Amino acid sequence: MNSNKKGINTICTHVGELEDTVYKGATSPLYMSTSYQFGEVDIKRYPRYYNTPNQEALCKKLAALEHAEAALIFGSGMAAISTALMSFLQAGDHVVLQQTIYGGTYHFAVTQFPKFGITYSFTDGWDPTDFENEIKPNTKLIYMETPSNPLLTITDIKGVCELAKSKGIVTMIDNTFASPINQTPIDLGVDVVLHSATKYMGGHSDICAGVVTASKENMEKVFQTGICFGGSLSDYTVWLLERSMKTMALRVRAQNENAMKMAEYLSQNEDVDAVYYPGLETHPEHELAKSQMKGFGGMLSFELPNVDHTLFYKHLRLVKPVMSLAGVESTMTSPVLTSHALMSPEDRAKQGIKDSLIRFSLGIEETEDIIADIEQAIAKVKALTVTA
Ligand code: PLP
Repeated sequence: MNSNKKGINTICTHVGELEDTVYKGATSPLYMSTSYQFGEVDIKRYPRYYNTPNQEALCKKLAALEHAEAALIFGSGMAAISTALMSFLQAGDHVVLQQTIYGGTYHFAVTQFPKFGITYSFTDGWDPTDFENEIKPNTKLIYMETPSNPLLTITDIKGVCELAKSKGIVTMIDNTFASPINQTPIDLGVDVVLHSATKYMGGHSDICAGVVTASKENMEKVFQTGICFGGSLSDYTVWLLERSMKTMALRVRAQNENAMKMAEYLSQNEDVDAVYYPGLETHPEHELAKSQMKGFGGMLSFELPNVDHTLFYKHLRLVKPVMSLAGVESTMTSPVLTSHALMSPEDRAKQGIKDSLIRFSLGIEETEDIIADIEQAIAKVKALTVTA
């Protein structure tokens, strides 16, 4: 099938599916074998070589969604990110990383790069000029994340890519928060696109996986490093992820809509200090988001300064206070206690991540039910705090 000519839901449902030639079943068969014939075959298949039938099938869908030539699937987002970074770097190289990125990626850079003689700088902001300011003669890679975790900052992808290309620097982006439904960075000039597939691709809070997509030439580099690091994903989980991705566009579009409604509601709530959502006209990079995204995403953050957070989370009845994000169920988390806990308080302050920040992942439930849940939880906390 020429995937470029198909609609997004058709790509999600059909591209890469394996045919059940024996029983003619409707879904892809699952091949769990770790050992395949080595003689008289074109391809020597092995799970760590990322080329089992289910791995290859899923990679076709991933590449089609990201408008890439090729893709590889990993055991986690961090396996994908670390393998991709180390595929393009060696001792003596310098990396420019966006200041506002996922805490695990930040932790990888500061703890691992020095061991390999790789130097790095974080940008002061997320404008192309902030990236330009950090470029050195030995800069080989620029790393972006947009929308960023947890403050939903928006980076000018095209602007940064034009700058990088003029200097022969490879660009990488973490596209997890947007998902390929809302943003296809390769169309804007990015070389390598990364995902924690644990999030929107899995979408049901039951899969841990990661994705790298790029040109065939760049994916060959990632493959060569990937077989050494060995971060491939088990075929059962690959199969489950392919199944989950059939509904990705439906889920993400519903989550976009819910996040927009929730951002508008929270902006009016007198207990809320600030709402970070690129769909709001008050977001500083709203116009930029509009120009490079097809939807604003299902993630937002807000500050709830005068309500005891421990009690608030305890009294939520529908929204789950859990670590991860992007499932069909609405969830909230404290970045300070989870995703950005490995960052020093000084570095968090530099990024603008306050203790009162709550990261909110909208699910597919009716927004009215989620609003009612938030209101009853705040009311209970207030009643308890007044009587205490
Ligand atoms: N990138 C982003 C934006 C994330 O939010 C996360 C995890 O929360 C990761 C990468 C890492 O993914 P994983 O936990 O699947 O390794």
